Amino acid sequence: MKSPETLQQAIVYFSDPERVFQYAVRLRWPDGKIICPRCESEKNSFVKTRRLWFCYGCQKQFTIKVGTIFEDSALGLDKWMTAVWMICNCKNGVSSYEIHRAIGVTQKTAWFMLHRIRKALQEGSFVKMGGSGSEVEVDETFIGGKARNMHVDKRERRITGTGGKDKSAVMGIAERGGKVRVMVVPSRKKGVLQQEVRNHVSAETALFTDALQSYDGLAQDYAHQVIDHAEKYVDGRVHTNTLENFWSLLKRSIGGTYVSVEPFHLHRYLDEQSFRYNYRATDANQINDAARFNLAMSQIVGKRLTYSDLTGKSESPHHGTTRTGIPL
Ligand SMILES: [Zn+2]
Repeated sequence: MKSPETLQQAIVYFSDPERVFQYAVRLRWPDGKIICPRCESEKNSFVKTRRLWFCYGCQKQFTIKVGTIFEDSALGLDKWMTAVWMICNCKNGVSSYEIHRAIGVTQKTAWFMLHRIRKALQEGSFVKMGGSGSEVEVDETFIGGKARNMHVDKRERRITGTGGKDKSAVMGIAERGGKVRVMVVPSRKKGVLQQEVRNHVSAETALFTDALQSYDGLAQDYAHQVIDHAEKYVDGRVHTNTLENFWSLLKRSIGGTYVSVEPFHLHRYLDEQSFRYNYRATDANQINDAARFNLAMSQIVGKRLTYSDLTGKSESPHHGTTRTGIPL
């Protein structure tokens, strides 16, 4: 059977336990060398009937899930991989209700699965953006509260300088023709925003922002140009439209699919939207759904997220939980 290219094909392909297992093994150990996730020994024997390995290094067994975001979950790989496929390929995101209906788990379980997958999509890049010849936009917006409309947000913040108490400030940095990085910030104060710019953008990059005063002073280290939105939105190369487009995608996803997002979880939705945006198909990069899925799967190794990490509670509120409190 050919590797899946659409959601329907993925569901069929992953429904076979042996096939989904082999697919996951190839993603995790592409060179075919099975390495123990605990002790990194290469000496092991495969117990075919139970689809696990016995490691001669640490004398313990391990499964394909150990050391991944699927660890300790009793859910099958078929369900996990279908959920990963959906979240990385549905442009406007996917809700826990859609996952619940598609793969037959409870909505609570689907909610937890989505958060774990978002964790895997988080990009831990320490490489700075920009550099000679590249153009980087920086902008912020507010998420949450009643005013979802971008222009209302902008009007409010210009008048009051804040986005309202119930909103979270979100900052975006976008390299034109490249990736975005988006983060929740405690405020839009100069110290906060400029620190993020310096953390993420190489000096001397061409930098474009709006006329927010918090950006004053960046011209010392960057080729900083300002577009004053009170006057116009575009002046040749000087604009922040890449981020304006990203904000509208993000707000459509959050407003349309997720209904409401608690500030505590907001960064995970930002990671999810950034992942889809950064690996979208463009003229220069013909990435398809299957490639995007494989990329997401390659990021699951080494990332774990427990119920208490997510909620701050040590116990799941539900009965019938696993040792780590994952609702089933
Ligand atoms: Zn071992």
